[in-house]
Amino acid sequence: MGQINTVLGPISSGSLGKTLIHEHFLFGYPGYSGDITLGPFNRDACIKAGLEMAEKVKAHGVVTVVDATPNETGRDPELLKEIAGQSGLNIICASGYYSEGEGAPAYFKLRSQLGDGVAQAYEMFKKEAVDGIGDTGIRPGVFKLASSKGGITDYEQIFFRAAARVQKEEGIAIVTHTEEGTMGPEQADLLISEGADPQRIMIGHIGGNTDIDYLLQVLEKGVYIGFDRFGIEGLAGAPTDERRTACLIGLLGVGYAGQIMISHDWVNVWLGRPGIGEIAAMVMPNWNPTHIFEDIIPALKKAGVTDDQITTMMVTNPQKFLTGE
Ligand SMILES: [Zn+2]
Repeated sequence: MGQINTVLGPISSGSLGKTLIHEHFLFGYPGYSGDITLGPFNRDACIKAGLEMAEKVKAHGVVTVVDATPNETGRDPELLKEIAGQSGLNIICASGYYSEGEGAPAYFKLRSQLGDGVAQAYEMFKKEAVDGIGDTGIRPGVFKLASSKGGITDYEQIFFRAAARVQKEEGIAIVTHTEEGTMGPEQADLLISEGADPQRIMIGHIGGNTDIDYLLQVLEKGVYIGFDRFGIEGLAGAPTDERRTACLIGLLGVGYAGQIMISHDWVNVWLGRPGIGEIAAMVMPNWNPTHIFEDIIPALKKAGVTDDQITTMMVTNPQKFLTGE
């Protein structure tokens, strides 16, 4: 049976159960760590908030959450371990860097001028996958990659190429971020050209694009796609849930349940100064970590989507994608 690394160590694929494939217990846009005077880090408050989130999703039968936070945006495996240990929720953490526009590109850009950038990113992914993150011994269960709107920059390609190579050796699934749902086919092609297994790739945030022909083009690459931003509506080019749901129902109707996963991309704690989460709650009132269970699944069922199709998206696909079995 396949195995997957959680923050508490490896578990078998059969233990994953109902899975949210892309969420964040903590997230901060790079720069937050410079604002600690007004936005100090409160570890206990983050754990408390994480435990509250864990209880909310567990009440809907969720057994596993993938925390897709990139390395430079507040990834904190020890804190996730604390939340997992206390709550009993499986938490899977990531290894990866965010997009050039929204991440922290200065460091690896400089390093790639000093030597082969792909080789250096490869070394990082490999070391984290084999020995763990920093000195925590906690190993990532997914690689997280991101590209920009309408392009995969040279900087972003470094991580795509490196992650695909380590995936071939270590069998770790790849979760991507597309900006407004663009570059889905290109992300798949790039990863596959470097040897990644299409069945271990999820092209994420693809629901940001509501063009059915485009969505089918991505599915035809043999990869998974993520309708993984339910509740993020109207902001930064995001479509409404109604449009996303219409696409999802259509794709399920023509037989693609086996290639689709659903999630919220919820951010439970915004690192840095207070304010971002509060504003998000005002402008996106449906964005919360149980929105799928309370609003989206009922809408899908009303349209004739079956319990089996929902189980496929939330249990079977995450298991195959994460563990390869
Ligand atoms: Zn995310």
